[in-house]
Amino acid sequence: MKKFQGKSVFGGIAIGRIFLVQKGEQQIKRVKIEDIAAEIARFEEARDTAIAQLGTLYEKAIKEVGKPNAAIFEVHQMMLEDEDYIDSVKNIISSQSVNAEYAVASTEDTFAKMFASMEDDYMKERAADIHDISERVIAILSGRVSLGEMADGNRIVVADDLAPSETVQMDKEKVQAFVTVKGSVNSHTAILARTMNIPALIATPVPLVGDIDGKLAIVDGFEGVIYIDPDDNVLAEKRARQEEEEQKKQLLLQLKGKENVTLDGKKVKLYANIGNTKDLALVLKNDAAGIGLFRSEFIYLESDTYPTEEEQFEIYKTVAMAMGGKKVIIRTLDIGADKQADYFNMDAEENPALGYRAIRICLTRPDIFKVQLRALFRASVYGNLAIMYPMITSLEEVHQIKSIVEEVKNELKAEGIRFGQIEQGIMIETPVAVMISDLLAKEVDFFSIGTNDLTQYSLAIDRQNTKLDAFYQPHHLGILRMIKTVVDNAHAAGIWAGICGELGADFDLVPLFLAMGVDELSVSPGNVLPLRKLIREFDVEKQKDEVLKRLLK
Ligand code: PEP
Ligand code: MG
Repeated sequence: MKKFQGKSVFGGIAIGRIFLVQKGEQQIKRVKIEDIAAEIARFEEARDTAIAQLGTLYEKAIKEVGKPNAAIFEVHQMMLEDEDYIDSVKNIISSQSVNAEYAVASTEDTFAKMFASMEDDYMKERAADIHDISERVIAILSGRVSLGEMADGNRIVVADDLAPSETVQMDKEKVQAFVTVKGSVNSHTAILARTMNIPALIATPVPLVGDIDGKLAIVDGFEGVIYIDPDDNVLAEKRARQEEEEQKKQLLLQLKGKENVTLDGKKVKLYANIGNTKDLALVLKNDAAGIGLFRSEFIYLESDTYPTEEEQFEIYKTVAMAMGGKKVIIRTLDIGADKQADYFNMDAEENPALGYRAIRICLTRPDIFKVQLRALFRASVYGNLAIMYPMITSLEEVHQIKSIVEEVKNELKAEGIRFGQIEQGIMIETPVAVMISDLLAKEVDFFSIGTNDLTQYSLAIDRQNTKLDAFYQPHHLGILRMIKTVVDNAHAAGIWAGICGELGADFDLVPLFLAMGVDELSVSPGNVLPLRKLIREFDVEKQKDEVLKRLLK
């Protein structure tokens, strides 16, 4: 048995077989071959497998994200049938007597450069697709398996690091836990683990050597430990703990259908955070009263090109309808920093967290922003949608958003397209937004406090930097006081204020938030019922003075 200590980002016990992610663009070696016909046959076989894999992905995606989103897999299938592409690979194999991997990589290089140099934006973006299909064929040729093609379930994913775009594509039915060597507690990858409700460890020094692949392992998310090839007694002990946790979960299920109300009758909205439509099942299972944060950028991260208005409309409509009239707050595109999509072609930045991201992209590229707004307004007739805007720093930004929103509404009206009433709010996640929250409150319908970024920007700590995890203190008195200021300013202007950052599910702080009068908490779906229990056992009037003393020390 081997044991490695990491940092836990979500509790729970998982027992399963390791799925080792061997990442990184492989170093493709140029190898001389003797049998040209056999090498061409090897390429043809890999190409057939790739086409079959894409077919399976297409079917799966249709069910999970709808036809428009699934279409990319069909496009990739067609690209693999392209005569020019196939001829190029075969020519390189035969004229240079080289291995298929090398021939595919060279073809990729030539074709990607050709597409990238084209005038037309659509054609330019095909460079990323060439890369994707070629990587898939190379992975098959070299026997490498990717996260999306996990054959069987009950897996513990072990990787050096996982980008949010990779985590979001994991098959949630098959992954029981994940463990990374790198990563930080506040990254979006960690947040996704909480949303998926599975144990996850980061900063865990597991040696990523091939022989751990397929081995039995236990992830203990309470202690932050992974055991590889566990002894029988450890296995028995962890199985018992797993059962205990299952029983606790079953007990919590008795709270389904009950109100989120304190002992003295104060009602709190308890909503869930999601990243895509696949999370809806968990939201419904855990009986959230609404969705307080739909991180819409994950739609962009899961796509190989800008998601169209139609594709987005289908997704927002699905969420609105699934929630059956309950509030669904969709945050507009918050891309940038750790959430990168290749096709945005963003320049590398010295300080991406302080860089070109979120509303800054939307306001400078209204073409992208308007597509999303149109989809949101169109979907609003199917449920109770609200929109919120991330990373706000000024009144001017809010004014600019409003004028773009007006343009979109006028366009829709002119086209005779119906849309409903939409509440519009902003995220308070920069210190300046806190300082002018009295003024901002007069402009919008609600505030949602993003404590993850508010902590990052207030404490001047990069939330991605694992070395600084110990310094990242969301409990800092300054942060708590800021939250109180925002709530007070919201209430003075007659609007509501919630928390959608990770602090909203911090059991130590929730009593303080209740005492402050926070109206809404939006948390990962798995935290809804435990928080409902806490809320129902709290008496605001009785405990308020005592709890608020925490803001004085
Ligand atoms: C936040 O910053 O607290 C937040 C909710 O947004 P994100 O974590 O996606 O940046
Ligand atoms: Mg944020």
